[in-house]
Amino acid sequence: MRNVSLWRGLLGVDQTVVEDVEFVEAEQVVVVSVRPVKGACRRCGRCGARSPWFDRGEGRRWWRGLDLGTVRTVLEAEAPRVRCRVHGVVVAWVPWARHGAGHTRAFDDQVAWLAVVCSKTAVTELMRIAWRTVGAIVDRVCADVDAVTDRLDGLARVGIDEVSYRKGQKYLTVVVDHDSGRLVWAQPGRDAATVGRFFDALGPDRAAALTHVSADGATWITNVVRARAPQAVICADPFHVVSWATKCLDEVRRETWTIARRAAGGTHQIGDRAGGRYHASRGDAQTIARSRWALWKNPNDLTSNQTAQLAWIATCSPRLHRAYLLKEGLRHVFNLGGIEGQHALTAWLAWAQRSRIGVFVELGRRIKRHLPAIHASLEHGLSNARIEAVNTKIRLITRIAFGFKSPDALIALAMLTLGGYRPALPGRT
Ligand SMILES: [Zn+2]
Repeated sequence: MRNVSLWRGLLGVDQTVVEDVEFVEAEQVVVVSVRPVKGACRRCGRCGARSPWFDRGEGRRWWRGLDLGTVRTVLEAEAPRVRCRVHGVVVAWVPWARHGAGHTRAFDDQVAWLAVVCSKTAVTELMRIAWRTVGAIVDRVCADVDAVTDRLDGLARVGIDEVSYRKGQKYLTVVVDHDSGRLVWAQPGRDAATVGRFFDALGPDRAAALTHVSADGATWITNVVRARAPQAVICADPFHVVSWATKCLDEVRRETWTIARRAAGGTHQIGDRAGGRYHASRGDAQTIARSRWALWKNPNDLTSNQTAQLAWIATCSPRLHRAYLLKEGLRHVFNLGGIEGQHALTAWLAWAQRSRIGVFVELGRRIKRHLPAIHASLEHGLSNARIEAVNTKIRLITRIAFGFKSPDALIALAMLTLGGYRPALPGRT
């Protein structure tokens, strides 16, 4: 193997002439002097069109490449400017790096791959870069994927949702494909204009092909859907409806806890007409406080300790236990689905109505307001588990992506992770 092709292979570059290699021992860095092959010279950095030479730009510059064993590597080359017919004076395209990048293509690709599969610390330590730099790289790699793929093609059933990504009312609107489980679109904002931008990107023909759109019942979503895709059946995402019930249950739990805490070991009575009388104590308050997870979890996932907590609640706080059963009952409605689910929902609504728990009576009214959409999702059996899983993963990514400069980098990471086009490691097919 000739030295030049060995170096090209080591660096993971194409269309590149390796002119010289120097090891700077003091800094433990390999500096490789390169230039593009003849056919790859004098092209616009943005569109790749052949363009006349303009000037030398800022002279020679460095691009960080993948480490060679234990030492860092940089590529050094001229960065002349060309005059593109469309883009004006721009830095010329180079085959080894993306436009405007300070790292080689292979370096970018490896970082993007790691960002999808590893922890933040693993990426930054291994690649010796800041987390913000990871954000910029992920953004570039995702833009490359977007340039050659159309994620919005062939959509029939989608879910539109909002995800909070930072404290202080910062939200993304996200669109998930019910059939593939992929994230297909995300933009900052939580309003009708943002949903409108999704339909702009979709275009009228593909909007007309949508058969079902699920959402959490928010009018800023449904109004736009009715206007832009009137043929689509509007469904309510079951996991949202169940999460409303979980919130109600939590409110009842807090109420019960407050009463028990005030009792302070005394004999304060927890008012409950249906469940009889019961005297609370401080120890009870602690048990209720600890029972939060037991109340939230699906019964199948409970630990034996949590099962015991539930049994305790059933005996000692019938009102809280009833609230728990109501939450579970609603979950059961969506597990049934179809006509059976619709009947179960009717029964549930009657049950909530006479539960004498204020928040659940109110929840019953709220569900009635959204009944057509909820019935539609029961009837059409939208893959709820999948949408919920994507939703959970996006929330996880928003936490990891904290520290990225812009929401664009967060969206890029979410797209690479959940959009179905995972980056490949450099040099692998
Ligand atoms: Zn151009």
